[in-house]
Amino acid sequence: MAATLGPGATRRLLKRLRDTMAAGGTAQQRLDKIVKIIAGELIAEVCSVYITRAGQVLELFATEGLKPEAVHKTRLRVGEGIVGEIAENARPLALADAQSHPNFAFRPETGEEIFHSMLGVPILRSGRAIGVVAIQNRTFREYADEEVEALQTVAMVLAELVASGELVSPDEMLRTEDAGLVASERIEGQKLNEGIAIGIVVLHQPRVSVRQMVADDPAAEKKRLREAAAGMRTDIDRIFADAGLEEGDERWEILETYRMFAEDRGWFSRIADAIDTGLTAEAAVQRVQEDNRARLAMVSDPYIRERITDFDDLANRLVRHLTGDRTAAADTDLPDDIVLVARNLGPAELLEYDRRKLKGVALEEGSSTSHVAIIAHALDLPMVGHAAGLLSRAEPGDPVVVDAMGGQIILRPREDVRDTYAAALRARQERRAGYAALKDLPAVTRDGTPISLNMNAGLVLDLEHLAESGADGIGLYRTEIPFMIRSTMPDVVEQTDLYRRILDRAENRPVVFRTLDIGGDKVLPYLDANPQENPAMGVRAIRLTLDRPAILREQVRGLLRAAGGRRLDIMFPMVAEIAEFDAAKELLEIEVTRESKRGRALPDPIRIGVMLEVPSLYWQLPQLLKRVDFISVGSNDLMQFFYASDRGNPDMADRYDPLSPGMLSFLRAIARDCEATHTQLTLCGDMASRPLEAMALLGIGYRRLSMPFPAIGPVKAMVRALDLPPLAKYLDEICRLADHSVRKKLGDFARDHNIPV
Ligand code: PEP
Ligand code: MG
Repeated sequence: MAATLGPGATRRLLKRLRDTMAAGGTAQQRLDKIVKIIAGELIAEVCSVYITRAGQVLELFATEGLKPEAVHKTRLRVGEGIVGEIAENARPLALADAQSHPNFAFRPETGEEIFHSMLGVPILRSGRAIGVVAIQNRTFREYADEEVEALQTVAMVLAELVASGELVSPDEMLRTEDAGLVASERIEGQKLNEGIAIGIVVLHQPRVSVRQMVADDPAAEKKRLREAAAGMRTDIDRIFADAGLEEGDERWEILETYRMFAEDRGWFSRIADAIDTGLTAEAAVQRVQEDNRARLAMVSDPYIRERITDFDDLANRLVRHLTGDRTAAADTDLPDDIVLVARNLGPAELLEYDRRKLKGVALEEGSSTSHVAIIAHALDLPMVGHAAGLLSRAEPGDPVVVDAMGGQIILRPREDVRDTYAAALRARQERRAGYAALKDLPAVTRDGTPISLNMNAGLVLDLEHLAESGADGIGLYRTEIPFMIRSTMPDVVEQTDLYRRILDRAENRPVVFRTLDIGGDKVLPYLDANPQENPAMGVRAIRLTLDRPAILREQVRGLLRAAGGRRLDIMFPMVAEIAEFDAAKELLEIEVTRESKRGRALPDPIRIGVMLEVPSLYWQLPQLLKRVDFISVGSNDLMQFFYASDRGNPDMADRYDPLSPGMLSFLRAIARDCEATHTQLTLCGDMASRPLEAMALLGIGYRRLSMPFPAIGPVKAMVRALDLPPLAKYLDEICRLADHSVRKKLGDFARDHNIPV
């Protein structure tokens, strides 16, 4: 059956659809003809078109094969039945046995009980389903990929007919829900970057209108494609120029990766193939993009999945060049308080918006490792992702709250809810202003103990916050982050340049470079690694770089060169035994000798440290302390391995408390051993960023902490209000308890002693 659907068949189908569209008659009459043609060409007994109406309802608008009296009668809510599910997820569904699908909703008036198989695809407009087209067969038919693709192409033609406003008025198309326009809706999501934003929904790229779907002259279409691609590349160059980006800035790196996609030959040749089926260049771009999305969505590797967004962004750009419709949302008149709403965003797209107007971002998809999340973090822009159903519920102009603290989006908030958030936002801004005022004051406790507060970083961009945060230095520079945003492994020259830039921007503040913590879930697209069942405990970090010493040696070489003539602090992650440290140090020494033989200036001093994040290392601490210049406790991993509790599993997030007698006693033992040997000790995991946890850490002997920059102010405020001796005494007492957690006790202590936590 699939054999009947070569490019020739799709082309014939498209041509017939075009002739029908061009013929006279009402839109309903054309639609009635179209379903007949589709059923005939795709050898289906049924073809039905459902269109989304106000109230989030899908109405049967035309059918070939179901009972005609069901037309305009059969209605399904979005999410209800298979058709509703297709609309809700905006994804095709091919079922050989539709009736056994858990979401099957039987509608007796349609007479569909005799049809077993079903293939439905969404009719999409700006990523939202404005309808569904479905075919059905009596047999238990397995629909081939080519058939799914053909129906998707058809759905694009139908999208034009629906969007023309002849079937459902444009007014109604805009309102997905009559009552919903006033009703508030809360959509749960995931915090991708913290903060609160209040603003007005701006749908990213509301509409790229492809009117011409079918073309007779493939050669002419390919020429248009080439010209548009050239125009698009010029556009991207302009974004580089306008953003004032220079090489070495990772926004530049991210865009560079993105620019590489714009040159992707595979992509262009697939578009050319789609043109050969009879599509116009713009329709072909959209066709291939739907394909891309479907293919990449099935890949489990998050890095690769994220590239869907880059391609979406490029495809939209290319279509705009082809259609001459150059108004991206970023160019149009926008409100002063934009909350950008999109299925997903590419990094370049986000950078095109005016940062002063942009208050927050809400995404239906997105992930914390996406490029756009990295950029949002550096821009300090609140962002919530994974908000299922967001696009079908948010309307342009809707008031909205992005609550990235609580991981939720509130559409059309009630006035009292909005006021509460406005108050929270004001309080947050006031607190921030208050912390900013602390910037130049020392982090010293009331009893006179100096505390060193440092910042965690991973991007050059993060260093913009170093001076303003008042941090003493960079306590943890995660070198894997710049590796993750690239499409190829940076060589020694590039790494040297990057590390030098970091040291330069840090001025004379110390920077602790952690060598690559990759492997497991932090996959580099250019480094083939075997999939691992338990990535956090697999071949990652120092294990991986000891297995592939060239990677570590090149990185160390880059670091030595970048820091030539100045201080270098370097540490190894996930060390589980002394032997690993010794092996890593040996590689470092080989590089030091090599550099010095070549007459290169070496860093001075070179300080070598270890992350303590695997509990086993504690049992070799006496030997380790003789070998290292400093220790840094990675409490995120230490906690996960101490309690055997996955740090990435939301169900485990609150199961064990770092403020427990067990964990605190363990951390205290580490601090005591370091103090006895005068070894510098830092804690650089998330614990350090929460004032109450940070207070407990000071109470058990920690004097250096490293945290994300927004946490420095609140932690400093806590430090300056703290009298250490009574806290240390209290912690000794509570560490002896058998409690699950001492969080409440520490909270009470803070309150009783007027310590802001
Ligand atoms: C940690 O494990 O606490 C740490 C700081 O390292 P990462 O979060 O990068 O694993
Ligand atoms: Mg770690």
